[in-house]
Amino acid sequence: MTDLSLAGETPACATDGVWLACVECGGTLAPFADVVYRCPECSGLLEARYADYPGFEAFSGRGVWRYADALPVDAGVSVQEGDTPLYEAPDVAAAAGVADVRVKHEGMNPTGSFKDRGMTVGVRVAERLGVDRLACASTGNTSAALAAYGGRADTPVLVLLPAGKVAAGKIAQAALHGARICEVDGNFDDCLDVVAELAARGEAYLLNSLNPFRLEGQKTIAFEILEQSRTATGEWPDRIVLPVGNAGNTAALYKAFRELVAAGAMTDDEMPALTGVQAAGAAPMVEAVEAGRGRTERWTDVETRATAIRIGNPVNAPKALPGVYETGGTAVAVSDDRITDAQRMLAGDGIGVEPASAASVAGLLALRERGEISADERVVCLTTGHLLKDPAAAAAAGGDTTPVPADADGVLDAL
Ligand SMILES: *Cc1c(COP(=O)(O)O)cnc(C)c1O
Ligand SMILES: [Zn+2]
Repeated sequence: MTDLSLAGETPACATDGVWLACVECGGTLAPFADVVYRCPECSGLLEARYADYPGFEAFSGRGVWRYADALPVDAGVSVQEGDTPLYEAPDVAAAAGVADVRVKHEGMNPTGSFKDRGMTVGVRVAERLGVDRLACASTGNTSAALAAYGGRADTPVLVLLPAGKVAAGKIAQAALHGARICEVDGNFDDCLDVVAELAARGEAYLLNSLNPFRLEGQKTIAFEILEQSRTATGEWPDRIVLPVGNAGNTAALYKAFRELVAAGAMTDDEMPALTGVQAAGAAPMVEAVEAGRGRTERWTDVETRATAIRIGNPVNAPKALPGVYETGGTAVAVSDDRITDAQRMLAGDGIGVEPASAASVAGLLALRERGEISADERVVCLTTGHLLKDPAAAAAAGGDTTPVPADADGVLDAL
């Protein structure tokens, strides 16, 4: 049984009040003694735990490291990640017909996705562990972020990408930031299997979201949403709608809420309902939620235009599904065409996102139609990556260009 309770004694293995706990068997491990990704006893997922959980009064400064008191290491490898805008989105709000809609645009991070939040913490931990190569499997954004943070830390980076399935902007970033890029004849889940084996053989330090420290950085999305919402509207949101790939963010946001409850800064009832959205062609989480299960079943054939969430085996599902259930959330699948419609709608509000990010808005609209979200709710949609990540998708979703002669009358004639 997955146990996500934060209560209990600090174990002797803790370092500076931090340790790792297995969410399945409850076993505990020293956080920085050995390189470990899963429980050595039962292979369960690991989670960082702390002797003390801070409330909001402990936070100061800006960005991810504002929340240093809730993180396992001190700042070190940073390019000023986090502190992303929480936008109003009038077109989306009108279409959704709910009390309040805001868009938390994680595409405004240094490399254009929320992955930077995880990497500033994960690469710092890697430094502390003294590893000499960083690696990840990626649908693109993880590789872009790891390449940038690895570059900043002067540590070599290896990335495994599914051949032909990664958007151009992301590969360009990984290449320029200096990663060694291997294109695998397989999908993302195959890439993750391979890189996990390389990590198990000690060839590289794995920085996929299986890595519990990365999720600690991503947890700060939730802290920011809560603080910014309260500043903007005086209230916390009732619901957060987010795209789901490996379900790392879903797990990370739920962890932030649990920590705030442990700190006495939030009640269980105040946790925003975590609402996951997947593309219809890659929806194992939705399948699990519809069946009320605590585990997903691997989809071997996945396809969607939203390549960032083209994932059939969400590794963090055992941590994320309890978050969906305990917060009163749900999960929904949307078609690629509805994702593109939502991408255009966001663009009309001046917010440029890649397809996977637009899934959040598409999911909000779908759940409104089904009557599963009520009109009085305050909703935050998480948009995970920037429009320029996938220029081909943006160009295809946008209008055509018009060839004109080089004179003003010619331009006016063509309009
Ligand atoms: C990584 C990524 C996701 C998936 O996030 P998970 O935490 O794995 O569920 C969604 N959108 C974008 C743009 C991403 O880069
Ligand atoms: Zn275990």
